[in-house]
Amino acid sequence: MAHPAHEETINLVKEIFRSYLKEHKQRQTPERFMVLEEIYRADGHFDADDIFYRMEEVGTRVSRATVYNTLDLLVECGLVQRQQFGKSQYYYERAYAYQQHDHIICNKCGHVLEFCDPRIGEIQQMLGEIHGMNIESHSLHFYGSCKDEKTCEARQEESAKKEKAIN
Ligand SMILES: [Zn+2]
Ligand SMILES: [Zn+2]
Repeated sequence: MAHPAHEETINLVKEIFRSYLKEHKQRQTPERFMVLEEIYRADGHFDADDIFYRMEEVGTRVSRATVYNTLDLLVECGLVQRQQFGKSQYYYERAYAYQQHDHIICNKCGHVLEFCDPRIGEIQQMLGEIHGMNIESHSLHFYGSCKDEKTCEARQEESAKKEKAIN
C-alpha cells in the first residue's frame, strides 16, 4: 500500500483538481499542482510542514501559505485525506487510488504505521449485518509505543529538532 502513485494516477488527479479549481473559480497556479504532485509522489503521512520542507529541499519555490491553502482545497475536493492522530497536529495522505488501510500510532514519537488486514473488513461487514446498516467506510487508529526504544528515541529527537526549527 505504501507506494508512490503511478504516473497515470498523477495525471488523473491533476485533471480532477483542475476541474475542481475551475468549478470553484479558484486560480490554477502551477504551485498548487506542484503541491498535489508532491503528495502523490510521496509515501504515507505527513504534516503540512513536511511538504513545505521537502519541496524546499528539491528547490521548488512554494510559500508555506500556498502549501496550507492548497492542502485545504485538496481535502475539500477529496483528493487528500486529513487525519488527526491523538495530538493536535493534522496529517495528510493521498486519498485517490489508495488502498483502504488502518493506522497504528506511537504516542511517544508520533510514528504512523499503516496496515491492511482483511479481517477488519470482515468485522465491518458483520457489524453492518447485525445492526442493519450499510457501512461504507471506517477509520481505525491503534495507539501504543514502539518496541524498538532506540529508534523511538531517535525519532523523538528528530521531531524536537524540527519543532525548534519552525518556532
Ligand atoms: Zn494512512
Ligand atoms: Zn515511537
